[in-house]
Amino acid sequence: MTAPTPTVTLTDIVHRYGPHRAVNGVSLSVDSREILCVVGPSGCGKSTLLRLISGLETLQQGTIAVGGRVLAAPGQCLPPERRPVGMMFQDFALFPHMTVSGNIAFGQTDRPRAERQKRVAALLDSMALTRYADAYPHTLSGGQQQRVALARALARDPQVLLLDEPFSALDEQLRRSVRDEVVRLIRATGIATIVVTHDPEEAMEIGTRVAVMDGGQLVQTDTPLALYRNPANSFVARLFGEINRFDATVENGQIVTPLGRFAAPDHHSGDRVEVACRIEDLALSPLNSHPDAVRVRVRHASFLGSSTRICLALPNGNGGSGSGGGSGAGGFGSGDHPPGEIHARLPGHVDVRAGDELAARVDAGRVMLFPSA
Ligand code: ADP
Repeated sequence: MTAPTPTVTLTDIVHRYGPHRAVNGVSLSVDSREILCVVGPSGCGKSTLLRLISGLETLQQGTIAVGGRVLAAPGQCLPPERRPVGMMFQDFALFPHMTVSGNIAFGQTDRPRAERQKRVAALLDSMALTRYADAYPHTLSGGQQQRVALARALARDPQVLLLDEPFSALDEQLRRSVRDEVVRLIRATGIATIVVTHDPEEAMEIGTRVAVMDGGQLVQTDTPLALYRNPANSFVARLFGEINRFDATVENGQIVTPLGRFAAPDHHSGDRVEVACRIEDLALSPLNSHPDAVRVRVRHASFLGSSTRICLALPNGNGGSGSGGGSGAGGFGSGDHPPGEIHARLPGHVDVRAGDELAARVDAGRVMLFPSA
């Protein structure tokens, strides 16, 4: 059996604003029934990528195909309204002077009136919006406006759905419930979907696969689990959770770190490497309970509800340096830990105090090695 043709295929996309390459050689494909999340720091080219697929931006280099049909290539560009693409924006971009029905019907003028009405009624029903058909957007809650925007994006039966930071305008309380609901509705359609987000945790939660972008390029595209366990570099590693990080030099197939000696079979003597472990992979136990463990001293501990995050001082002269931030996924721009400090995250409440001495160790299988940048 041959593999199905991906619904969306981007091949070697390059897009410049003046001399600046906002998108620099991106290739990816998305199948139907798949939600691909594109995640990366502000300015890395995520929105430009979506704008190129939707036709809001004219493609300069590469090819964009949907359902096997080329939508854009240099010198060949289908206008946005003729592309089988639905787009939903961060601010919903609903027309304030149009009712909910009017908003959803917008852009379907090429269809006979009866067919248009039928489609709008079906979408109102599937989005639980029928009773708001004649309401105006400003009278609706954020979650309801979100569903109207999704219905409008689906109204022309697109083959691809593009969502640009769809949940960031919603407050924290509302975001999770609206997100669950919108993702459920999208999954029910089975339409190939690309969601842009700057929130790594959100990407892991909703993406079947996640594409990490940095500086206009795709760094790694994989399942959330593979990105978490086998990141391509320390940028990806710290994006999906806080890490402890050390610099080391390989000697005779081994590296020495403040957390012990580890094998580095794929590196040559003299190679500079970054060594990292997730803070939840650092095991803590009573002193002298494990021969391979190192002695650490608690600086402070924070109880976070489902876990306790513990800052630990390494023995004098051992320069650990962790990075990542916040709870859950790491996020962008968080600096390294102070020198000589490592962090651990243990499930539930852990009763430790500043000054307590403990034994720390990490399983060799959980140690990540990257060539130094
Ligand atoms: P992201 O969505 O990841 O925040 P964008 O795709 O919006 O990133 O932007 C990528 C880069 O291109 C940024 O450096 C941004 O400043 C630049 N850029 C975006 N749109 C324009 C534009 N219309 N003109 C010039 N530069 C732009």
